[in-house]
Amino acid sequence: MRTTESIAIDLGGERINFPLEILEKYNQPGPRYTSYPTAPEWRDDFGEAEWLAAIEETRTSTAPLSLYAHLPFCQSLCLFCGCNVIISKKHEEVSAPYLARLKQEITRMSERINPARQVQQLHWGGGTPTYLSAAQIEELFNHLAAHFNFAPDAEIGIEIEPRTTSEEQCRTLRRLGFNRLSLGVQDFDPLVQKTVNRVQPYEMTKAIFDTCRELGFSSINVDLIYGLPHQTVESFSRTVDKILTLSPDRIALFSYAHVPWLKKQQGSFANHLPMGFEKFSIFRRAIEQLTEAGYRYIGMDHFARPEDELCRAQDDRTLTRNFQGYTTKAGCDLYAFGVSSISSLENVYAQNWRDLPQYYEAVDAGRLPVMRGMRVTAEDKLRRAVINRILCHGTLPKAEIEREFGIVFDEYFAADLARLAELERDQLVRLNPDSIEVTTLGRIFMRNVAMAFDARLNREELVRQRVFSRTL
Ligand code: SF4
Repeated sequence: MRTTESIAIDLGGERINFPLEILEKYNQPGPRYTSYPTAPEWRDDFGEAEWLAAIEETRTSTAPLSLYAHLPFCQSLCLFCGCNVIISKKHEEVSAPYLARLKQEITRMSERINPARQVQQLHWGGGTPTYLSAAQIEELFNHLAAHFNFAPDAEIGIEIEPRTTSEEQCRTLRRLGFNRLSLGVQDFDPLVQKTVNRVQPYEMTKAIFDTCRELGFSSINVDLIYGLPHQTVESFSRTVDKILTLSPDRIALFSYAHVPWLKKQQGSFANHLPMGFEKFSIFRRAIEQLTEAGYRYIGMDHFARPEDELCRAQDDRTLTRNFQGYTTKAGCDLYAFGVSSISSLENVYAQNWRDLPQYYEAVDAGRLPVMRGMRVTAEDKLRRAVINRILCHGTLPKAEIEREFGIVFDEYFAADLARLAELERDQLVRLNPDSIEVTTLGRIFMRNVAMAFDARLNREELVRQRVFSRTL
């Protein structure tokens, strides 16, 4: 029920008021811009030949590398989950054949990459990467270390599932050199947990968190989701309070993406979802709690302690984004391994097969298991740079883009600036003669600001196509 015509929110000490219509107007389907062009633009006629040609172009490159390994297995399905997962309790029986293919893919790719290139970042995501046993974790890590040249200060991270990760696995990870962890939490409320089939009490999470702190992981992130079934402002606020007692280095506060036409299991709780103003109020309370506790709102779901390198990179404009979110490792080519994983080079995106049988078939036949991809155009690169800088820094000096791309900003982006005029009237951006600034209010609607520069977005078709989740 609407209780007010205007909404107030405190964001890092600044109190802003905005009309309720703004929330309704901008909470529309839109991309998250982990890539530009976004995944729906990638083409099925981009296959192994195109991917091999793109890799060949980087043969003499010395640019640093970012590597990603996708481990798709989970023991049980969390009903809100939008990831590409395979549910199985058979562990060794399913993970051993997968690991064998993953290692083959890594070997094959490493043969095509200049061995002098240093790996600055490695991330294991899923699914549940710790579905692998401690011995399998070691086997996969040693395989990567044998085939790539890791920088001594490489950022080596993994997603941890507190319900199924053992102390032995944590010790193994630390011994191997993993220095970053991301813990999935989502919500501590018992009713929410039961409804989404993810029962994970605070005490269990705290135990694994404390173990990891004692082991000396240098950065621990926690993932939360707002907008889950049965969540209320009060219940989620209690979750955030509990998280604050753990004092993680970073917090990701994701909006629950309700896409039951893609993920059927989400339909089971569709009648219990907080919607519209109610969902926004949950987000608002959380954002206020986190910023009051000293975390900085980096933008697009992410918060970090002021001393964290994400904040430093944001201050000196070196922050960038990749498929894992915000990162300080700009200029890396990202090579990804495993089913459904996405590689990103300067000129190309390539995604592996999403289904295990097709992935296995391609690897077993000695091929790179690419399913689709895209070669980006010069215009895509320009727009990607603009969107990236808006999402990372909130301020876009036009001269920065003009210098880099040899354009006259106001001429090139005349249509985009015209689109932004409406966002300026709604106080989401300030259009200065030499820069575009996202306002504090606009930082809540970052995706909408970025969408103004998306030349490939079919704005009229957005709602009907049902490809993207809502922006809040
Ligand atoms: S453990 Fe993570 S990846 Fe697996 S089903 Fe749950 S949310 Fe999805």
